[in-house]
Amino acid sequence: MHTTTRPNVADMELHELEQALEAAGTQRFHARQIFRWMHKRGVTEFSRMSDLSLELRAQLDAAFRIDTPDIVRLDRSIDGTTKFLLRLADGRQIESVCIPEAIAGQDSADEGRLTFCISTQVGCAMRCAFCLTGNMGIDRNLTAGEIAGQVRVLARELHVIGARFNIVLMGMGEPLHNYDATMKALRILGDEHGLAVSPRRVTLSTVGVLPALERLATEPLMPNLAISLHATTEDQRDALVPINRKYGLKELLDACRRFPLTRRARITFEYVMLKDVNDTPADARRLVALLSGIKGKVNLLPLNEAPGIPFKRPDDARVNAFAKILSDRGVTVSVRKSRGRDIRAACGQLITETARSRAPGQRLAVLMEGL
Ligand code: SAH
Repeated sequence: MHTTTRPNVADMELHELEQALEAAGTQRFHARQIFRWMHKRGVTEFSRMSDLSLELRAQLDAAFRIDTPDIVRLDRSIDGTTKFLLRLADGRQIESVCIPEAIAGQDSADEGRLTFCISTQVGCAMRCAFCLTGNMGIDRNLTAGEIAGQVRVLARELHVIGARFNIVLMGMGEPLHNYDATMKALRILGDEHGLAVSPRRVTLSTVGVLPALERLATEPLMPNLAISLHATTEDQRDALVPINRKYGLKELLDACRRFPLTRRARITFEYVMLKDVNDTPADARRLVALLSGIKGKVNLLPLNEAPGIPFKRPDDARVNAFAKILSDRGVTVSVRKSRGRDIRAACGQLITETARSRAPGQRLAVLMEGL
């Protein structure tokens, strides 16, 4: 009883922890120490926070908890990518990936560094036609503590806590479908007393949930923006990215045109390439026309094929021809190198083992249990 009602420090921003400490009758300045232990050193037991008095440690233990995802499984790819299966406090599982170099096309402050690809939801509600996570459906949102917690756990496990790294919100889930928790997680991760990850090193990837995108445009802490475009006509996008039926391509691109960008920043447009579906020269020319007037660049994602996904990956010549049409017309373009395919850690392949091993009907039952 008592355990479940103790407030979870992992979900708190520094100022919230200060208030909570005060309310519990302790001094607010200890919040910075606790933050440093948790986020900078990866220590999540109050009893091990050795610069706090023993009495305070006992008091904190009685009053608070720090939920931290457990590592269930860790897979290393031959290319150095590491995929983590993490178990949350309620037993649900998510995947996070660590990629040993920056993802091509990402507007990061320092290329060539480690990139953490983290999840924002258990599953995803967007149901993009080519994505395995979408296939699995949505179970629940992650909390801010669970989103930030992935970085804490990965950084500690890989001994890179002090290093500079990039974060991409490109794991399971749609970050703008879980707006408040995602933005709060970025504030926790950005705190100078914690991991101090600057928003310039974070990229938020979205299908374009329009009201949330408009809200993002007003945020003081602005991550880099990547838009999962994937199509050049309304009909085609309706079929591939179902949310387009609600917030169409034209509206989305208008919102991108209005999106406030700092001087050097550009929006990345992700474009998954599906053989004979959206990979023709006509698609490439339409894409150029659509992006005119937007400070953007294109990142081509040749499909990562998977069983149950009814599309094929175009061959390299096709991808290169598409890229050339873009670059010949002045559009900056890159092709995403697929990482971790041998361990199913590549884009669109994140799906937790429980869902992977069950038939679709059974999967639904699992989702219902969570409601
Ligand atoms: N929900 C967010 C972030 C998740 S995925 C979004 O959609 O942007 C990150 C990128 O991987 C998205 O552009 C997504 O469309 C892409 N993706 C999904 N499945 C893929 C697949 N099978 N092959 C290649 N890219 C894929």
